Amino acid sequence: MKTMQRLFGALALCAAAAVASAADRLPVVASFSILGDLVAQVGGERVSVTTLVGPDQDAHVFQPRPSDARTVAGARLLVVNGLGFEGWLDRLAASSGFRGTQVVLSQGIKPRRMAHDHDDHAAHDHDHDHGGIDPHAWQDPRNVVLYVNNLVRALSQADPAGAAVYRRNGDHYVAQLLELDRWAAAQFAKVPQPRRKVITSHDAFGYLAQRYDIRFLAPQGVSTEAEPSARDVAALIRQIKAERISAVFVENMSNPRTLQLLGSEAGVKPGPRLYADALSVRSGPAGSYLEMMRYNVRTIVAALAKP
Ligand SMILES: [Zn+2]
Repeated sequence: MKTMQRLFGALALCAAAAVASAADRLPVVASFSILGDLVAQVGGERVSVTTLVGPDQDAHVFQPRPSDARTVAGARLLVVNGLGFEGWLDRLAASSGFRGTQVVLSQGIKPRRMAHDHDDHAAHDHDHDHGGIDPHAWQDPRNVVLYVNNLVRALSQADPAGAAVYRRNGDHYVAQLLELDRWAAAQFAKVPQPRRKVITSHDAFGYLAQRYDIRFLAPQGVSTEAEPSARDVAALIRQIKAERISAVFVENMSNPRTLQLLGSEAGVKPGPRLYADALSVRSGPAGSYLEMMRYNVRTIVAALAKP
C-alpha cells in the first residue's frame, strides 16, 4: 500500500512537472511546414513550434501578415531553410524586432546549381534571388540528415538542459531518414533508367533527381513566381511527345493551369499531386516529411511503371 501511495505521489509530481514545462517550452518558429515537422520531431515536448507558411501553401510567394511579425518576435529560435528560399524572411525578422537566434538548416549541404538549359529564359522574368542555387535541398533525405544535425546543435544551444533529449531524438530521426533513403533508392531501381523522366510544374525536385538518377522537366523554373512562356510550353509539348513521357504531375502548392494545358495538348493526363515545398494537412497523404517523401516516391514510381 505504501508503495502504491509513493507511486501515486510520484505520478502527481511528474504530471505537475509536465504542466509546468508546457508553459516554458522553448518557442521556436519555422519558416515553412517541412521545417516545422523537423522541429517537432527533434524538439518533442521541450519546444512549442509555430510555422509561418503552413500546409499546402507556397513559400515562394508568401506575404507575411502583421500577425506573423508578432509570432517571429516571440521566438527564441527562428528556423529557416536558406539558399534564398525565404526571400521575405530577413525583412520580416528585422521589422518584427526579433531578438533570438536564426538557424539556417541547409548549412553544410552541397548546393545544386540550376541547370539553365534554355538561355532564352531571361525573356520571362524568373526569380534570380537565389543566385542560380536550387533551394529545395530537402528533396534529398541525406541533406535532411545535415538539417537535423544543424537543428540539434541550435536547439541545444538555445536550451542546454535539453541537449541530451535533442541528440537522442535527432539520432532516432536520422535513422529513419537513412531508412527512407535506402527504400527510395530501391523503389526507383525498379524503373529502367531511360524511363525515369518526369514533368512537374515547377523545378522543385532537382535534389531528388540527382540522388535517384531521374530526369525532371519543369516549365515553370525553380520558383513559382513566373508563369512559363507560351514558347516554353510549346517546347515541352514537343518533348513530351518525342520522348513519350507518361509521368506528368502538379504540386500541392502550385497553380495547376499550365500543366493541365500541357496535359491536354500533349495528350497525357496529369497524375496525382506531388508534395514539393509544403506538407499536406496532418490527415492528408503528406502530413509529415517522411510521409511526404514516401508518398511522392510511390506516386512517381507508379506513373513511370505505366506502359
Ligand atoms: Zn519551390
